[in-house]
Amino acid sequence: MNIQHNIQLQPYNSFRTKAVARLLGEPQTADELSEMLRLFPHEKKLILGAGFNVFFTKDFNGLIIKPAMRGINILSETDNEVVIEAGAAEDWDTFVEYTVLKGFAGLENLSLIPGSVGASPVQNIGAYGTEAKDRIIRVNAADLQTGEISVFTNEECGFAYRDSIFKRTCRYIITSVIFRLSKSFNYKEKYIDLSRELEGVPSPTLSQVREAIIRIRSRKLPDYTVLPNAGSFFKNPLLTKEEKEMLQHKLVDLPLYNVGDDRFKTSAAFLIEKAGYKGKRRGMVGTYEHHSLIIVNYGTDNGQEIADFMREIQNEVCQQFGVMLEPEVWIF
Ligand SMILES: Cc1cc2nc3c(=O)[nH]c(=O)nc-3n(C[C@H](O)[C@H](O)[C@H](O)COP(=O)(O)OP(=O)(O)OC[C@H]3O[C@@H](n4cnc5c(N)ncnc54)[C@H](O)[C@@H]3O)c2cc1C
Repeated sequence: MNIQHNIQLQPYNSFRTKAVARLLGEPQTADELSEMLRLFPHEKKLILGAGFNVFFTKDFNGLIIKPAMRGINILSETDNEVVIEAGAAEDWDTFVEYTVLKGFAGLENLSLIPGSVGASPVQNIGAYGTEAKDRIIRVNAADLQTGEISVFTNEECGFAYRDSIFKRTCRYIITSVIFRLSKSFNYKEKYIDLSRELEGVPSPTLSQVREAIIRIRSRKLPDYTVLPNAGSFFKNPLLTKEEKEMLQHKLVDLPLYNVGDDRFKTSAAFLIEKAGYKGKRRGMVGTYEHHSLIIVNYGTDNGQEIADFMREIQNEVCQQFGVMLEPEVWIF
């Protein structure tokens, strides 16, 4: 079994912050993972995918488990649908590209989200009106304490906006994810930016939708190889009716989206911008000039600087608007 000692984590997180892990293991099969868990029962543990939604502020005195299970397999197929399993370590966008090339519909709106397949259920990744939960039917995962492998149905995953049982409990290591995709595709307007990008295309194909999303994302988001970042830093806040009404007194143009049950989602980017933090920089950290929800690293390897800047934004938004922004990014 491959266990490495005293590993520098800078290449393992897209913010490129420095920290040393005492142990790092990359199990390639579920059996290898169970054995690793048996060998290190008392070690503090942390699961790491491709590192696009985490950064480190200090060394980690324990075992980092980076699932390395690969493989994409069609489990069953009918005239209309296909059920596909993908290993946790498969690159998410390569998997999406594969499904689009095969003509399997359902994941195309999640094109170009960086990360691994194994992390996709954790925060129920989402973009352009689609969430991973819409297509996940099962998740295979090992219990961190017992090593026992369980199968979670979609309902058992407890999916919500950027949330799941895996995120809430930090108890399971996902080894593979099973998706149900459709063999037919009819483009439905779900998202205004996407419809604009596809203007003039009579009935967009799967590939045309994927390409449109890649074009929009490439224009909007900073390139993490040039400006290290972890995508959207904060979740969009959910407001009660009372909170929404109070906030509308201060911000008449507050963007709102009714999610039902008298709850309203608003834009974290809008609040950050109104608080005066769009493109604002503190030392080597700042918000991206074209997108205030993205914190970018201009040259520090110290995760604490990013965490301090995050707190400054949270405090300022809370003071001005009474909303405490919750990070979407994991800070270790
Ligand atoms: C430029 C950019 C754009 C982005 N755009 C989006 C977007 O549009 N929508 C969106 O939802 N996200 C977006 N993200 C965030 C990120 O892409 C997703 O969160 C992605 O799922 C992270 O995958 P990862 O493999 O890098 O996970 P990591 O960052 O390594 O881990 C994220 C969390 O998942 C846990 N985890 C990882 N793998 C496993 C596993 N196998 N089993 C159990 N737990 C695990 C980790 O412990 C950690 O808590 C963006 C990030 C960047 C840098």
